[in-house]
Amino acid sequence: MSARLRVKINLTKVTANSQFLVHSLAQHGISVTGVTKGVRGHPEVAKAMLAGGVLQLADARISNILRLRKAGITCPLSMIRCPLKAQSQQVIDACDISYHSHLDSIQRLAPQALAAHKTHHIMLMVELGDARDGMLPQQVPQAVQAMKKIPGVALLGLATNFACLSGVPPTAQRMHEFTELIVLAESVWGAPLRANSAGGSANLTWASQSGRSSRANNLRLGESILLGTDPISGRVITGLFDDAVKLVVEVIEATPTGALAGSKKQHTGQSSRLVLAVGSQDTDILGLGFPAGLTLIGGTSDHIVVHSHLNRFSIGANMELKLSYSALTRAMSAPDVSTQLHH
Ligand SMILES: *Cc1c(COP(=O)(O)O)cnc(C)c1O
Repeated sequence: MSARLRVKINLTKVTANSQFLVHSLAQHGISVTGVTKGVRGHPEVAKAMLAGGVLQLADARISNILRLRKAGITCPLSMIRCPLKAQSQQVIDACDISYHSHLDSIQRLAPQALAAHKTHHIMLMVELGDARDGMLPQQVPQAVQAMKKIPGVALLGLATNFACLSGVPPTAQRMHEFTELIVLAESVWGAPLRANSAGGSANLTWASQSGRSSRANNLRLGESILLGTDPISGRVITGLFDDAVKLVVEVIEATPTGALAGSKKQHTGQSSRLVLAVGSQDTDILGLGFPAGLTLIGGTSDHIVVHSHLNRFSIGANMELKLSYSALTRAMSAPDVSTQLHH
């Protein structure tokens, strides 16, 4: 493998993380939808999730969903961001399920679903404290009532989201509200709602504690599968690999600290300043995790400068960095960052 700037993904570990989450959540009556937006819908990573027992996949962008379909992935796919006006046809063609915060976008999809002789499944997104997306709880009964008169679409269930924008974690009280809303929506719809999705990786703690007592029976997991971490605390979740995904960068300068202009210290040969060939054009610099003994000094569009307490890296060396979810997403979308898959 050439020394190109790359995201290196261990597919065996992605599968192992998926498997661990699928099995442990099954004990709480909760299914897992694998979220692929962190890897821009990379089909091989998606397949690694499916190999771990994930039965459905979801993404927030239609381009990523089309990429999955083009690669021959046939499992149910959900569009988890409210579809854009111009994308109704693509959503009907490529997705089995889509998430909506208002009736407008559902009404736009319905004619295309009818024309395609399909019943498209709808998840109604409810806002329970994250203040990102979703309709207000009090709007749900009216929306469900209105949906009964829209042909071509069927209500599959309710969904909610936590800790995405605001970092508000799901409390027992919020989750209880969610269950009450599901029951209310069912009474209006007149049939059981089969799939109710409680959120993403931020809900894992809630699920392991009280998932059983809730009507929510699905989680949409991205970060925990790919990075092994809890988005709220940033901590590694017990049982998961936190090194399935890495950023490999090349050291292009290594200068002993004492030799730098303006340095007051004597050159001891112990520490150095390293320049890495990666920048904010490629990733989220503040979302990178450096090997022990290295600290970030700063970064620009094309360089990152780190202080190395020990002279472990020389010019031309490869360095493996950890990535936050935002650092990963950006790297996967950057034109100069390639993807290396291994087992
Ligand atoms: C990104 C996303 C998820 C996945 O969240 P993670 O924290 O990565 O598990 C779930 N639902 C929606 C709507 C999302 O946009």
